Amino acid sequence: MNFPHIQSTDPAVFASIQNEIRRQQDDLELIASENYTSRAVMEAMGSALTNKYAEGLPKRRYYGGCEHVDVVENIARKRARQLFMVEGCDIGVNVQPHAGAQANSAVYLAALEAGDTILGLDLSHGGHLTHGSPVNSSGKLYSASHYQLSPTTGRIDMDMVRQQALKTRPKLIVCGASAYPRIIDFAAFRSVADEVGALLLADIAHIAGLVVTGHHPSPFPHCHYVTTTTHKTLRGPRGGLIMAQRALMKGVNGAVFPGTQGGPLMHVIAAKAVAFGEALQPSFTDYSAAVIENASAMAERLMERGMSLVSGGTDNHLMLIDLSERDISGKEGEAALGRAGITTNKNTVPGEKRSPFVTSGIRVGTPAMTTRGMGVSESKQVADYIVDVLENPADESLLARIKGEIHALCGRHPVYPEAAQR
Ligand SMILES: *Cc1c(COP(=O)(O)O)cnc(C)c1O
Repeated sequence: MNFPHIQSTDPAVFASIQNEIRRQQDDLELIASENYTSRAVMEAMGSALTNKYAEGLPKRRYYGGCEHVDVVENIARKRARQLFMVEGCDIGVNVQPHAGAQANSAVYLAALEAGDTILGLDLSHGGHLTHGSPVNSSGKLYSASHYQLSPTTGRIDMDMVRQQALKTRPKLIVCGASAYPRIIDFAAFRSVADEVGALLLADIAHIAGLVVTGHHPSPFPHCHYVTTTTHKTLRGPRGGLIMAQRALMKGVNGAVFPGTQGGPLMHVIAAKAVAFGEALQPSFTDYSAAVIENASAMAERLMERGMSLVSGGTDNHLMLIDLSERDISGKEGEAALGRAGITTNKNTVPGEKRSPFVTSGIRVGTPAMTTRGMGVSESKQVADYIVDVLENPADESLLARIKGEIHALCGRHPVYPEAAQR
């Protein structure tokens, strides 16, 4: 990729960008929340739209000169509605949240008063910091309670959710996760929400791409609010998105601006529009199907080779390798895999006995490797490499040999072909 201007004006930043492009090409990206955007998405993000202040919504801005960014934001909104619309459910969208965390804060601000109770999935069971962790504003401003996975199945148990909801009487229930490999039953969450008089937020940050292609059930019409990131399985720019039942949108819009944000990032909104356009293409549905096929092939191979997975497998794009019965920790596993050219992240597992900085799990996902065209046979091969590394983390010559094979595999699947030719 060419960056002639940075190259001549700022060699230090240019070198870092080149090094990162090289890393993304050479190493195998298995972080479940990452993906590779198209060049078209990156062009929009790198455009002059970054120069524009456009507080407010299209046609109701606090600045002049918004006629063109109005058009682009309306394209993004229209495409987002098309992607997430379900029969008989009128939804509105706000494409301005800077990221997933900002989308969640805005929904909380719209739906809650300070001190109200929220109920979300425990962080160490796969939930997200923004679902009421004490270190996040969601846990500081609201009274957070959590449900956990069933210790026997490793899955969300709706009876446990219901018991917790009856006990804590939340005003808002959050369903959705950062490290949960199974289908989420939004209808079941809604019936618990109705029973205790709570609003229901689905945070589909990880699975949005699967939802819009019909590979995971839609949160609509069950949920009052839906938030997502746009950069995970949806494969767009780093950003957030809020959808809600139409009657709740006025509150959502005010909670985004002026509630929690200033000027929207119009270059990112343009990139969201481009990504949503891509996600509406039939090829994106094929991509999403391949993400799931690859994840199940990888999960099966890992289990054939004796690895234990939380919940015994996966229905979606990710899996959690459970190392709690092994000598190797998540931290050591992540580091050894890294030395073999495989990028993952350590993750807590249900009933975690090690510290959150060490952990007993490794989270692995297929969205990024699938974007670069890898299929089922590569997924099985990668599973074999993962087991070889986790069983021999101190065998540096083995790790070096695997790293060479990973780089060769990645060389056959260029992320940005023109960058590889540099
Ligand atoms: C990734 C994620 C977020 C946060 O997204 P950011 O863009 O990193 O702020 C929120 N919720 C869930 C469930 C996530 O997985």
